[in-house]
Amino acid sequence: MSERAVDYTLPALDGSERIARAWARVPAVPSPAERAALMARAAELLRANDAVLVAHFYVDGDIQDLALETGGCVADSLEMARFGRDHPASTLVVAGVRFMGETAAILSPGKRVLMPDLDATCSLDLGCPPDEFAAFCDANPDRTVVVYANTSAAVKARADWMVTSSIALAIVRHLAARGERILWAPDRHLGGYIARETGADMLLWNGACVVHEEFKGLELELLRAEHPDALVVVHPESPEAVVAQADVVGSTSQLLKAVIEGDAPEYIVATDNGIFHRMRQLAPGKTLIEAPTAGAGATCKSCAHCPWMAMNAVAGVIDCLERGSGEITVPEPVRTRALVPVERMLAFAAAHPESIVAAYRGHVPHLGSA
Ligand code: SF4
Repeated sequence: MSERAVDYTLPALDGSERIARAWARVPAVPSPAERAALMARAAELLRANDAVLVAHFYVDGDIQDLALETGGCVADSLEMARFGRDHPASTLVVAGVRFMGETAAILSPGKRVLMPDLDATCSLDLGCPPDEFAAFCDANPDRTVVVYANTSAAVKARADWMVTSSIALAIVRHLAARGERILWAPDRHLGGYIARETGADMLLWNGACVVHEEFKGLELELLRAEHPDALVVVHPESPEAVVAQADVVGSTSQLLKAVIEGDAPEYIVATDNGIFHRMRQLAPGKTLIEAPTAGAGATCKSCAHCPWMAMNAVAGVIDCLERGSGEITVPEPVRTRALVPVERMLAFAAAHPESIVAAYRGHVPHLGSA
């Protein structure tokens, strides 16, 4: 297993920013024979440990298949949180990044929550340290604090609301209609998109996702000219110049649904390319094109795949179940405080089902019902 450096934006309270460095492990790629054995062993361990695998759309395709073949789920952050909370298994194996495991632990204190690699993090989480964020909140006490799911439990514990990209627009619109002014963290692009769409008064933290920030508006224009019939589907963590060219802007579930249900034969997709695995399964025959992440001759930091999502491997699922490693715990005072904004979001989602598009969990013939 090797490691790679990942540079990300670390904002400061005065609005400035600097580039900080983190690390991501790169798992070994198994041979076809090893792969079959790993999949069988992981399925056996999930059964033996009364465990269910809850996976994000961006992780390795083998983990996504394993989750669906063993009765787990592949979904966005909102559906992962709900699925883990409602599933009767006593152990949740969360394949994603650390804040997803923490959200599961916040919602399911009676369950053991394991992760294939506890060091799988997120540039949005890293770029919003709890102490600096607390000072930001203290300096703006008259604002309602709304944080994105991609934050630590400690940051959620300072929030009034947590939102995922599936439901962020609806919740901010609801708060703005009540006359509330918003303090938003951590993604500046998603925050800017929500402010433009809702007209809400939003003060933004200055964080960014290392994957989505790399999509380039000018190169996307050129690509669209080459594929005039393609539908452009964009995650709102992308820069404004990219979002402005989108036919569909939405969460991973919403983008997946757009590709499945769209009439176009081709789709330019501006989100992590890990989602292509599920898109190809659920929309066979459609052509998927990666949105450009860098100009000709330039380099890209993430190249449209999250270095920390890529740390999830089937071998890691086996490891955590065999050894009980990778367990996520959240101190109880932080958990109970962080539960407040998470439950507010889930209650809003339950009361306003029309305001979100549920994770697409259609039938895939060779995998069984998802
Ligand atoms: S894709 Fe971006 S937002 Fe998602 S986990 Fe990776 S760094 Fe964080």
